[in-house]
Amino acid sequence: MSSENNVFGAMLQEFAGAARLLGLDEGLWKILTHPKRQVTVSCPVVMDNGKVEVFTGYRVQYNITLGPAKGGIRFHPDVTLDEVKALAAWMTWKCAVAGVPFGGGKGGIICDPTKMSQRELEALTRRYIAEIADLIGPDKDVPAPDVNTNAQTMAWVMDTYSMKIGTTCTAVVTGKPIEMGGSEGRREATGRGVMISAREAAAHLGFDIKGATVAVQGFGNVGSVSADLLAKIGAKIVAVTDWRGGVHNPKGLDIPALIEWTAKNKTVAGFPGADALDPSTIFGLDVDVLIPAALENQITEKNADSIKAKVIVEGANGPTTPAAHQSLHKRGVFVVPDILANAGGVTTSYFEWVQDRHGYFWQESEVNERLELKMVEAFNTVLQTALKYKTDMRTAAYIVAINKVATVTKLRGMYA
Ligand code: NAD
Repeated sequence: MSSENNVFGAMLQEFAGAARLLGLDEGLWKILTHPKRQVTVSCPVVMDNGKVEVFTGYRVQYNITLGPAKGGIRFHPDVTLDEVKALAAWMTWKCAVAGVPFGGGKGGIICDPTKMSQRELEALTRRYIAEIADLIGPDKDVPAPDVNTNAQTMAWVMDTYSMKIGTTCTAVVTGKPIEMGGSEGRREATGRGVMISAREAAAHLGFDIKGATVAVQGFGNVGSVSADLLAKIGAKIVAVTDWRGGVHNPKGLDIPALIEWTAKNKTVAGFPGADALDPSTIFGLDVDVLIPAALENQITEKNADSIKAKVIVEGANGPTTPAAHQSLHKRGVFVVPDILANAGGVTTSYFEWVQDRHGYFWQESEVNERLELKMVEAFNTVLQTALKYKTDMRTAAYIVAINKVATVTKLRGMYA
């Protein structure tokens, strides 16, 4: 793995840039760059062919100073401990930027869910949760969905944990189906936050989001909802890609129809009424707003210079390498960083956890209104910090987050 693609290294570089500007104390610097706990578990599963496979899973609790660890569980063949560690660190900063009382965690299992049956996925999820059951809980660590996991996966997480403790515990996990303690608006929350971030960025830069052209990489939960909600406020989504292909229509894609097509065909490729687009060309398109909403390390030194967009809103976690970010910043591209842009998901996860703990559920309009308030507040805090420190939005978001976690760490004091 090249150093450019070492995601924990990327996180440390981003951290260092902000910590220097903030004048962070050396001891706090050391504390905040070390994960609190990282666990590796082996999960045996009897596969449909009768053979036993053993899958490796990770759970990292990066920092729990502000509250229970919070972060998704990812199923992917390329999961590594380095990646999970970076994602857990980003969750720490994201929760702090979003102003929710959580620390940061993340989980991952090395597996290829596209080659597994529902029964095998259920068995794997349950065994993984059984292996980490002592670590998680509503006051300890609250998982959520991430790449290739969904509401059904979270239902299995909730059930497995509840069976282990002998009582139904909804607040142990978020992103659950609505019927069993999930929150209205949670499925759309990350994309809604991305839409709000794009809208606020356009307002700050002085262009109208109505009629602005947008390209989206990735058309899963985050990409499809971001595209749909941006189209609803008048933006023109001209290109979308996924891991199998891409589609392009300069007049604007019909996003609800594309969502329907993707649900049936499992890819955006072949969507009628649009030209085929080579996925590797999406970042070079002449658009106003670019939304990477797939995986990390997508915008690199190799393609950053080809980017023509005014604004990049990072729906995905870690889509831009530090070197690429530097060159974008130099060229005046306004990047809304992941730890701010996609914080809508964890903010509504927090709302779900609050509702579960109260046993009282809000209407969707209330969830969306509260999310709007929190996202706009977080965006403005980061923007004001960027202006104050004369820096970019990513460094500013880190400054806000590090300052918050460092202040509480100091207040709590060193326990020995
Ligand atoms: P998902 O599995 O629903 O969708 C991922 C999408 O990316 C799919 O359309 C897939 O085809 C596409 N993709 C994968 N590799 C690609 C490639 N090389 N080129 C183009 N497209 C590719 O996942 P998601 O939940 O939408 O998450 C996407 C990103 O957003 C991840 O980085 C995740 O960590 C981050 N995120 C998700 C949430 C959430 O609430 N789901 C919250 C915050 C951040």
